[in-house]
Amino acid sequence: MAGSYNHKLIEGKWNKKWEENPVNVDDGKKEKYYCLDMFPYPSGNGLHVGHWRGYVISDVWSRYKMMHNYYLIHPMGWDAFGLPAENYAIEHGIHPSISTAENIKNIKRQINQIAAIYDWGREVNTTDPDYYKWTQWIFVQMFKKGLAYEKEMPINWCPSCKTGLANEEVVNGKCERCHSEVTKKNIRQWMLKITAYAERLLADLDKLDWPEKVKKMQTDWIGKSYGAEVDFKVDGKDDVITVYTTRPDTLWGATFMVLAPEHELAASLSTPETKEAVDKYIYEASMKSNVDRLQDKDKTGVFTGSYAINPLNGKKTPIWLSDYVLADYGTGAIMCVPAHDDRDFEFAKKFDLPIIQVIAKDGKEIENMTEAYTEASGTMINSGDWNGMESSVLKKEAPEMIEKLGYGKKTVNYKLRDWVFSRQRYWGEPIPIIHCPDCGAVAVPEEQLPVLLPDVEKYEPTGTGESPLAAIDSWVNTTCPCCGKPAKRETNTMPQWAGSSWYFLRYVDNKNDKELVNREKADKYLPVDMYIGGVEHAVLHLLYSRFYTKFLNDIGVVDFDEPFKKLFNQGMVCGRDKETGAAT
Ligand SMILES: [Zn+2]
Ligand SMILES: [Zn+2]
Repeated sequence: MAGSYNHKLIEGKWNKKWEENPVNVDDGKKEKYYCLDMFPYPSGNGLHVGHWRGYVISDVWSRYKMMHNYYLIHPMGWDAFGLPAENYAIEHGIHPSISTAENIKNIKRQINQIAAIYDWGREVNTTDPDYYKWTQWIFVQMFKKGLAYEKEMPINWCPSCKTGLANEEVVNGKCERCHSEVTKKNIRQWMLKITAYAERLLADLDKLDWPEKVKKMQTDWIGKSYGAEVDFKVDGKDDVITVYTTRPDTLWGATFMVLAPEHELAASLSTPETKEAVDKYIYEASMKSNVDRLQDKDKTGVFTGSYAINPLNGKKTPIWLSDYVLADYGTGAIMCVPAHDDRDFEFAKKFDLPIIQVIAKDGKEIENMTEAYTEASGTMINSGDWNGMESSVLKKEAPEMIEKLGYGKKTVNYKLRDWVFSRQRYWGEPIPIIHCPDCGAVAVPEEQLPVLLPDVEKYEPTGTGESPLAAIDSWVNTTCPCCGKPAKRETNTMPQWAGSSWYFLRYVDNKNDKELVNREKADKYLPVDMYIGGVEHAVLHLLYSRFYTKFLNDIGVVDFDEPFKKLFNQGMVCGRDKETGAAT
């Protein structure tokens, strides 16, 4: 009938025809093309238009590639562990696996109604034991290589709700639920040593056909900087205080030094006149949380009574303690250059410490400094042999010069920190570790994987900082795989990122129960040629996936070390078609 479009009839006809006569067949002659969407979280609300905004691009692009006679890999799956399903379970008492399965069924129905051309034969679900067996397997391999380790780490803690909080649940330092002041609590966490890959994660960005914006965000996140560790002798003693600085070029302007109150030398630097004040300050700092210390607007501090010798000019610089320096950052000691650093300037003004300008615009010294001169460009002044040098040139050369002079050594630092990889939550992959009183932390033997997530009655966090799994004695109590004595299972679970850091590999061999992915299939179909998704994943998900891929490359699972050749952020769809890859 003219003018009316019977979508049910038309879609029904074509869906059936496509099913009967698949066009996308690997005949061994076609070149492959892997077009990937970021897989969704199967939310109870079903598919929303924002999902399809991304998927429609990959759908069009996939059809285009198929028509150009590529064998297309265009899969879909589910990133299904995480808090929303768990919170739903807490509220409604419905097991997360049940609500997740229902949500997946619904979204799949919606996607099929739109007639998107996903290859459902490749479907994966991160909460399926056949899938998370391999998520756990990767963890075991990392553990064996020393890349997964345990550490006491501070978490956000609400003393009134008696639970750990995610950063997103802390609003202005208060608990989102009960508005109590959030404190820090040290608990044992599993960490992944992503910092061991910092240099490769940075250098290999050059290989990637990704939007410059995303590369820049990853570069900043990794945050490589050059600097120097400079040794200051303590005046009249044998002690040496080492400071780390990214600005050794300003060493002539270092007029005082600040140590964290926990610094191993802190207490010993006091003199009979200052001892009482120093001890009191150290005690008071120990009562404060790191967050409070960093957020305190009003800087506090105490003079130790001792001096350090600036190695370049031999001048005595007073040594102070202040709790804005944290013991676990750098060496726990900093040299302060108030003329060129805002925080040091503020501290110098408050405690009436000398300010010496060493970088000057056009070589002219500022007469009455009312704020730090923080621009990187200028000419060196008040700096002995360095006078007249361009500061940007000196900044690059100073670390080497200081090392040659024997005053310290040049260093490379990264902002990137190791990844806190455990959650005290129920709905995640159990960490496949057994704790034995004699053998310590032991990996669950590979043939015993997966460690199944047990059923629980209560999904709520326990209030002790432990996961609800800790309450299931029959699950927790086991035997040590090494010595056979009674031992306990690890009760923390993995973060939601665990399953999404490698899922793109599994799509090409999703039913393999012997290996994560068959090497022949991996060589043939991987890596991903085009990855489409939101810019909100520019750092974490994309960085974690690159880290996992490099690790799996190192242990011989795949022969490439970057997972996604080309990246397209659908958020840029308006007017940025240069970056859609449409011309390639
Ligand atoms: Zn609370
Ligand atoms: Zn043992």
